[in-house]
Amino acid sequence: MINIKNSRYIVAILLLVLSINSAAKEERVITLEDGKVHYILEVMRHILWPNDSKIDEFNLVIVSKNIQLLTAFNHRDNNQVRGKNTIIKQAEYLDTISQNANVIVVDASQSFEIVAINERFKNALIISDGQVSKAHLMVAILTSRNQIKLTINRDNIINRGFKITNSLLDFAGTKADLVKQLTAKDHDFNQLLEKVKSKEALLTHLNQSLDTNKQHLQQVLLNLNKQNNQLLVAHRQLAAVKEQLTALQASKEAIKLELATHKSNLTAQQQLMAEKEVEHHQQQQKLTVLNQAIAANKIALGQQVAQLEQQNSTIQHKEEKISQQQTLLYASTGIALVILLLIFLVLRINIKRKQTNIKLYQLATTDDMTKLFNRRHFLSLAQRELNKLHRTHSDGAVLMIDIDHFKKINDRFGHAAGDQAIINVAKILQDNLRSYDIVGRVGGEEFAMLFTNCEINTATQIAERIRQKAADLTTKFQQEQIKLTVSIGITARLQEEKSIESMLHRADEALYQAKQSGRNKVVLL
Ligand code: GH3
Ligand code: MG
Ligand code: MG
Repeated sequence: MINIKNSRYIVAILLLVLSINSAAKEERVITLEDGKVHYILEVMRHILWPNDSKIDEFNLVIVSKNIQLLTAFNHRDNNQVRGKNTIIKQAEYLDTISQNANVIVVDASQSFEIVAINERFKNALIISDGQVSKAHLMVAILTSRNQIKLTINRDNIINRGFKITNSLLDFAGTKADLVKQLTAKDHDFNQLLEKVKSKEALLTHLNQSLDTNKQHLQQVLLNLNKQNNQLLVAHRQLAAVKEQLTALQASKEAIKLELATHKSNLTAQQQLMAEKEVEHHQQQQKLTVLNQAIAANKIALGQQVAQLEQQNSTIQHKEEKISQQQTLLYASTGIALVILLLIFLVLRINIKRKQTNIKLYQLATTDDMTKLFNRRHFLSLAQRELNKLHRTHSDGAVLMIDIDHFKKINDRFGHAAGDQAIINVAKILQDNLRSYDIVGRVGGEEFAMLFTNCEINTATQIAERIRQKAADLTTKFQQEQIKLTVSIGITARLQEEKSIESMLHRADEALYQAKQSGRNKVVLL
């Protein structure tokens, strides 16, 4: 069986095979520049810089117009030297090269004075292909014309403190060597590829068997799960049966105990039964006595029932009487109500009649418009008062009051306005009346007054006050404001005089004089 660890290895091998496969598909062309690059990096690898540990990465500059060497560098997968990264740049002129360059590769096509380079870049390793002057102690690693040429400046290395490993010169070889090496590597690679393929086939086979085994395993697992479930169910059933068994045993013990209790109870009850039987016998005797008593009670009850029935018939008789009395009561109440209604109606008619009489009396005695006494009633009352004055030899005075130019008021403001003016003048007269004096409307716009027990001077003062009030009066009717004056004739009761007519006649005469003398006047006669 293949476990997880094994399957991880298989995946790793698969990835390796895939990467090798894709690499094998690339076309490999080994050029002269590839060889140069290889050797340059090998030289760097075998030399230690004076401050080697402080160098983090190599700064390599190719001084050349030819771009092929740079291309060869860039095509490499790995340009690391002794774990340090190498940054490669190309420069046509020395001036443009950075001062901190570690390695400078000088191309043969360019003719530089190596001295000038040495002076300018004191800490750099100079590598040339051998075209530089021998006078400057360049060491040719390979100097043959048809071979790859790589020259190291000995002064450059030793004088500046660089260290060279002994094997520096061992790696040098021809292009043919390099090709040979590459061919051998290619062969190894192909062999590896074959192996990988066979491993691949094996892997496929293993994968298939893995799938089959997986399915088997899943089936087995399913079965196992099923059995496990069945086992669990059986286990639960067993536990339930066990519980039932325990419960049964407990109930068995309880029943045993109960049985023992029942037995002892039975004995006790048997004794109790014997006692009860004795008691029962005694009670039966008592029952016989009671039965006799009941028979006696029944006879007494029969007598009481007969009495009750008798009482019942008496009650019925009384109820009938009550109902007769109730009917009588209802009838008398009805009659009383009718009488009350009749009394009420008679009283109402009486009140109405009195009200009508009062109205009739008022109509007969009062002027409806001014609410003053009418001429007839005034004369009758005045005559009665005058008789009293005559009997008592008391003073009295009569006034005749007439509104001036009343026709004009009617003509100018209308009859309704005239009515209002008459009412207002009547009100002035009423207001100036003492409680025992009499006033009446004796003509259309004429009024008469009788002052009893009143000296003529006082009467004249009252008459003057009335005239003034009438002159001050303004009657408002609709939008109009009506002004008026009155003329008043006044006369005193003569000695022994007892006719109202004669007094009124004199007062009328005085009124005439007032009118004649210009109106709005009081004239005494
Ligand atoms: P004077 O008395 O100043 O001589 O002038 P006069 O215009 O008042 O004259 P006279 O007494 O002759 O006229 C009275 C008028 O009063 C005649 C009548 O049309 C009017 N008259 C009488 N009774 C009423 C009434 O109840 N209402 C109204 N509006 N007018 C009345
Ligand atoms: Mg008049
Ligand atoms: Mg008048």
